[in-house]
Order: sequence, then C-alpha cells, then structure tokens
Amino acid sequence: MNIHNFYAGPAILPKQVFQKSADAILNFNDSGLSILEISHRSKDFVEVMEKTNSMVKELLSVPEDYEVLFLTGGASSQFYMTSMNLLNNDDTAAFVDTGTWSTKAIKEAKHFGNIEVIASSADTGYTTIPTIDGETKDFKFVHITTNNTIYGTQYANIPSVNAPLIGDMSSDIFSRPLDVSKFDLIYAGAQKNLGPAGVTLVIVKKDILGKVDRDIPTMLDYNTHIKKGSSFNTPPVFPIFVSMLSLEWLKENGGVAGAEKRNLEKSSLLYKAIDDNDLFNTPVQGADRSKMNVVFKLNDDGLEDAFLAAAASANCVGVKGHRSVGGFRASIYNAMEKASVEALANVINDFKG
Ligand SMILES: *Cc1c(COP(=O)(O)O)cnc(C)c1O
Repeated sequence: MNIHNFYAGPAILPKQVFQKSADAILNFNDSGLSILEISHRSKDFVEVMEKTNSMVKELLSVPEDYEVLFLTGGASSQFYMTSMNLLNNDDTAAFVDTGTWSTKAIKEAKHFGNIEVIASSADTGYTTIPTIDGETKDFKFVHITTNNTIYGTQYANIPSVNAPLIGDMSSDIFSRPLDVSKFDLIYAGAQKNLGPAGVTLVIVKKDILGKVDRDIPTMLDYNTHIKKGSSFNTPPVFPIFVSMLSLEWLKENGGVAGAEKRNLEKSSLLYKAIDDNDLFNTPVQGADRSKMNVVFKLNDDGLEDAFLAAAASANCVGVKGHRSVGGFRASIYNAMEKASVEALANVINDFKG
C-alpha cells in the first residue's frame, strides 16, 4: 500500500534508503555482520563516516575553513552548545524570534551570556519572517531559524548581518542551494530532511572556536569533536549510515539544486490547492511561505475531523497541525514525491465540507 507520509519529524526518507538500510542491518558490505554490531573504529564504518562527511561538503560546497560534525543530543543541544562555545558571560548575542524553536534557542543561550531579541514576528502570531533593522556589528553572533517547522514560515533569502551568523536549519537543510560562507555555524537535527533521529549535523567555521574564557566540558566542546573526527565517543553509527544513503540519493537526484526545483513545484501545487478552495486559508503569505512545512486551516474548525477523514481515506497521514497551532500541516521534505503532494492537493480540491 502506498501511504503518503506528511509527518513533520521524524519524517519521510527515500524508499531506496529504507531498502539499503534494511540490507545493511542484515549483512553490511558482505561482511556477514550487521551495521548494528560493528565497531565504530572498524574500517568499514570509518569509511561511512568519511563518506558522509565528504558528501555534506560536496553537496553544500562547504568552504575549506569549515568543519562538518556529526553530534548527538539533537538540535535542542545546539541551543546551548553554541552559546557555551561562543559567548562569554558578559557578551551579548542577538536572536531573531520566529516562534517555538527560536524561543527555545533563546532560553538555553541565556545560560551563557546576554541575549537580545533584535527582531520578532510574535506580533503577527509568527506568520511572517521579520526583517532585521539596525546595526548588528556589536553582537557576538546573530541566530536565526531558517525554516520554522511549526508555523510554516521560511527565510526566502538569508539576511545579511555584520556579525557571525548561526542558523538552525533542522527542517530545511539540503532543501535548496546554500551559501555556507554566509554562516559561521549551521546546525540541523537529521530527522526532518536528512536522515533518522539520533544524529545532529553541525557545520562550523573553525576560527570562531576556542575564544571563550569558560571551561567547557569535553563532550560539549566543538573542538573535541573536530580533533576526533566526530568519533571522540561512540557516534550514532546507524543514523550516520542512513544519512549517508540519503545524501547519495540526493546526489543522484540533482543535488540541492534539483531538490529546490522539486520543492518549489510541490509547495506551489499545495498552496494553490489551498488558495483555490474558499473553505481553507493559510496564515502565511507570499515569500514567507515555507517550502517544507505547509500550514493551513479550515475557516470552520468544525470541519477538521471531516477533512482528516478525507485525507486518511486517500492514504495521506501526518497532516494534523502542531498542537500549538492547530489546523493542518503538510511536511513535504526532499524525499516526498510529487505524486504524494498531488494526492493531498486532490483531497483539498475535492473537499466541500
Ligand atoms: C525539530 C526542530 C528542532 C528540535 O530538534 P531536536 O533534534 O528534536 O532537538 C529544532 N529546530 C527546528 C527548526 C526543528 O524543526
């Protein structure tokens, strides 16, 4: 049965990735062993780590002076690890508040220094991407969330700032071409657009590290993981392996430029269906609309159950909105095929209440 999976995360991965992952669980590289039972120091796994690292660098054209790391603790651990490594107690970092995830990032950064919110879309109920007005050069860094998974907003263009820029890209990394050099640090939990839950990708410019006064615990120091090639301790072997397969799939399918083209097509199709049916509305308009998470509502909430039932009967799952926003959310990450988006668009087109 073909199920159309719109869950926000953990989320859809390409079918070939599941097949190859399943094969490697039973017999990895014809070794007679499972990927789940081999040493992370074995030649076979060291090759996986190196390949995953080099695929990230290749697909995103990561400049030479950046390091690619595979860490644990989710994007949520990066909320504090970034400030712990980059901010002295008396320094100030700037944050753009675009909703739930940036609010959480702000809360954790406050443990390690001063935080100033320099732009916020709270006044629009987080349905817009706010512009950064004013000078940013005195901040230790500026933090943005490039795609807001819950509210369905996304930066169409990365803002220019005069301080090191940090991006939480958990839900749109690899969805479009990216100029890594605009950022000093990028992080992303894998489970939205890269791989399974359990690994967090970090891309960091080396020369911003090692400049804070505090004593950083070994595991929380980016330099530890740089020195040890993300293998200071046991890395999340299987999530890294599956991420490698997903990056191979991305490369075979036109890389991030191919992904962007498909993501534009898929998201336009869905927004058009919503805009064309008078029963629905989307709180996010124009260029701020996310190409990854399409948030929409029924004008009459009394019809929600009927719509969910109609979606379910077309094998569309995971379209219920986040509990904090209500309504519906269709997450249409890289691995989602256009046919699945068409299936949901048809349900929207045909819905008469
Ligand atoms: C899901 C998500 C997070 C949290 O990720 P975890 O890996 O669960 O900690 C943070 N930021 C954004 C933008 C997300 O979508």
